[in-house]
This record gives sequence, C-alpha cells and structure tokens, in this order.
Amino acid sequence: MKYFFILLIALGFATGCGEDEPEIAIDPALQGILNDFAEEAASRGLLVDYESLNLTARLQTVTRAGVAGFCSSSEEGSREIVVDRNFWNFAVPIQQELVVFHELGHCILGRGHRDDLDDMGNCVSIMHTTADNCLDSFNSMTRSQYLDELFSER
Ligand SMILES: [Zn+2]
Repeated sequence: MKYFFILLIALGFATGCGEDEPEIAIDPALQGILNDFAEEAASRGLLVDYESLNLTARLQTVTRAGVAGFCSSSEEGSREIVVDRNFWNFAVPIQQELVVFHELGHCILGRGHRDDLDDMGNCVSIMHTTADNCLDSFNSMTRSQYLDELFSER
C-alpha cells in the first residue's frame, strides 16, 4: 500500500502536475467498503457509479476532535469523503464501515442527520449526529436493517 502511494506521488511529479497533490480518486484502503456500499445500494434498486458522481475518498488526519470523517461537495459537483486516519487505524471493520457508509449517506444519498431513538434507546439510523453514539447497535445482526433505513430515505 505504502509503495502504491509513493509510486503515485512519483508519477505526479514526473508528469509535471504542478503544485497540486496527486489526485488519488479512491484510496485503496476504502475501496472495499465503497464496493460494499454500491452492492447494498444495487440490491435495493439504486445504481451508484462513483466515477460519474465524481467521488474522491481518502484517509487523512482530521484534527477536529471527535470527527471520524466528513463529506464535502463542491459547486462543480465533485464530492469528497475524508476519513480520519487515526480513527481508521484503531477501529474494527464494522466501525470503519459505519463511518464510511455514514459519509456516503451524506455525499451520495444526500441525507442529513437523523437522531431518532427506538424504544430501547438505540439510534434508528446510522445517520446519527455523533460518531460514537450508536456503534454498539450497528453490528452484523442489525446491519441489514440499518441499511434498509439508510437507502429508504433519499
Ligand atoms: Zn454526519
């Protein structure tokens, strides 16, 4: 993985891209989860094509406390997901998926936050406000139910 980045950076300089950082559309570390998101979307009748959606996704150190990731979109229609590298390194896969799916919920599905709780006090959506509010309720048992909710509102 490390070598891949070094190679891309080297190519960036070699081809004279200038002062801009080399454009890595989707970080290889995030690709698997993005593929899963597209698959889950497709199984619910929604076609997600990251290229035509102009999506960039990368790992980066996010200095804002408590922020595991964010989505931003430009006026030109490009969308960018950034996942905090420190969070990523310490999170288990289901937590990584939760954060990436949450940000894709913003960036791709155009969803806002939803903080409703069910009778048990669990968040009903992975689109809740804080990053650690509902980690325990998003697991392999509840996953498909949460994904139904995620893709049902768009
Ligand atoms: Zn959010």
